[in-house]
Amino acid sequence: MTDAHLELRGLHKEYPGGLTAVEGLSLSLSRGELLVLVGPSGCGKSTTLRCIAGLEDPTDGDVRIDGESVTGRRPEDRAIAMVFQNYALYPHKTARENIGFGLRMTTDLSDATVRERVEDVAGTLGITDLLDKKPGSLSGGQQQRVALGRAIVRDPEVFLLDEPLSNLDATLRGRMRTEIQQLQRDLDVTTVYVTHDQTEAMTIGDRIAVLRDGRLQQMGSPMTCYHEPANRFVASFIGEPSMNLLDCELDPAGSALTGPVSYPLDDRLAAAAREAEGVGVTLGFRPEAPTLSVPTDEADPDTPTFAGRVDVVEPIGERSFVYVTLDAGPQVTVATPGGTPVRETEPVRVAVAPAGVHLFDAATGQALVHPDRDERSDLAGVPAREPDHG
Ligand code: ADP
Repeated sequence: MTDAHLELRGLHKEYPGGLTAVEGLSLSLSRGELLVLVGPSGCGKSTTLRCIAGLEDPTDGDVRIDGESVTGRRPEDRAIAMVFQNYALYPHKTARENIGFGLRMTTDLSDATVRERVEDVAGTLGITDLLDKKPGSLSGGQQQRVALGRAIVRDPEVFLLDEPLSNLDATLRGRMRTEIQQLQRDLDVTTVYVTHDQTEAMTIGDRIAVLRDGRLQQMGSPMTCYHEPANRFVASFIGEPSMNLLDCELDPAGSALTGPVSYPLDDRLAAAAREAEGVGVTLGFRPEAPTLSVPTDEADPDTPTFAGRVDVVEPIGERSFVYVTLDAGPQVTVATPGGTPVRETEPVRVAVAPAGVHLFDAATGQALVHPDRDERSDLAGVPAREPDHG
């Protein structure tokens, strides 16, 4: 890995009144890397960005760019540009004035140079013919491009994007996502991208950092977070539909789980389950892992199987999501190839091979074991592992 370009060291932010929004967050990005900060609303993503930008002072910790602390520097002295969720454009200025405003205020570039740079950036973003319009007469996507232009034109060291697509409709969101990715690659600028949307995080990030209650849960490539979630929270947050998680107990002989379901453990799972702090473990499997069958089909005697009844079948094209309430109680989600033979309200069997099972420690939430790599790549149809940057 190259030396860190942007680095957070033990970033801590407590708001007046005692609320800790960010707790001891350390992470580093190499030059040109795009890191996505992802987590549910209120987990401290915006606060982190605002501390990096200098719009908020951290209570403790350090923000460093190129090995140098910028904590305490004014926002305009940090070579950082931020794009806000609501774009924050000046309504009475044209797109051209909006894009050029920061340059005029913070540099002594000539009018001709500012004009040239604004037009260059507008060309890159495909908004040259909108330059003389005001934000009110632009669509959401066009306003988004103007906001991006205003950030890019400053040629920042670091680019911060706070939920940049959340005000756009679904189609445009998909398109802008690709555009931002391409732009970020072309500009090769170190970028922190904030979103609460795990799909967006998975598709856009070189690496993702999953936050919960101000604390870092896991940082890694999207595929690592998906296949090897560090804990229960990441397991349930990354992946759509969510991983099925069933709280069980390890039976005294250590060879099976009991609780809402009973599940015989093979050697690999039994060894991992014994690492749990107590007897509680959580059995996890992705919706893609099980095989669904109807009771009249011949069952594979070697694969542990749960009986249940279909609640809902959701066809989404090449796959269907089948929601099954197990006889033992909990509901699980199963993804099946397109034309599934199962029908709502009818009994089914859900066969879950041990090779597709994750276990988590119920006491700490920490992962105990994940499916083997080879099995996993067969299951998900994707490479078992992508290289991590750090
Ligand atoms: P996210 O961007 O992940 O939704 P935020 O960083 O906005 O989360 O907020 C993290 C926590 O800090 C939340 O509990 C939020 O209510 C609180 N918070 C954010 N800004 C302030 C503020 N200016 N004063 C007090 N509490 C705040």
